[in-house]
Amino acid sequence: MKKKLTDKLIKEITSELIGEDAVPLVLYLKDKTKVSEFDISKAIKRDIHETRTLLYKLFENNIASFIRRKDKKKGWYVCYWDIEPEKIKYQHEKLKKDKISSLNQRLEKEKASEFYMCRNACTRIDFDKAFGLNFKCPECGSLLNPVDNKRTIEFLGERIKELKTEIGMET
Ligand SMILES: [Zn+2]
Repeated sequence: MKKKLTDKLIKEITSELIGEDAVPLVLYLKDKTKVSEFDISKAIKRDIHETRTLLYKLFENNIASFIRRKDKKKGWYVCYWDIEPEKIKYQHEKLKKDKISSLNQRLEKEKASEFYMCRNACTRIDFDKAFGLNFKCPECGSLLNPVDNKRTIEFLGERIKELKTEIGMET
């Protein structure tokens, strides 16, 4: 699925991957190329240190790249930054895929074992652990009863399907 990289999508993805702080920066940089870190700092109204911190977070997440060039007049090095919109989409899909696989693991676990809870709902534990505790809650000492996890299984299945649809994976 080719999803257009709209501002809305950029906001959503950047917030999820880096944090809301980085959103103005990404929106500012998305249509520009090789922008000096000082210009970015001015544009997003943050000091140079905060700006660099955000930029390096984007860099670590493979969303931004930079080159260093010596400023001939001042004699020091300045970084010039680029955003790679395609990478944003890629990182987003990767994040979703990781989520799908961890939800799948959870789903398999839910399907494969029985879970137990006390009437106070202190904790939710699987059969082996409950058996080891003689079916007594480790928190309050009440009896542990099997819980119906049909809803949990349904919920996990739905969530996985949703995520797969979002990134255009076959369900
Ligand atoms: Zn309990």
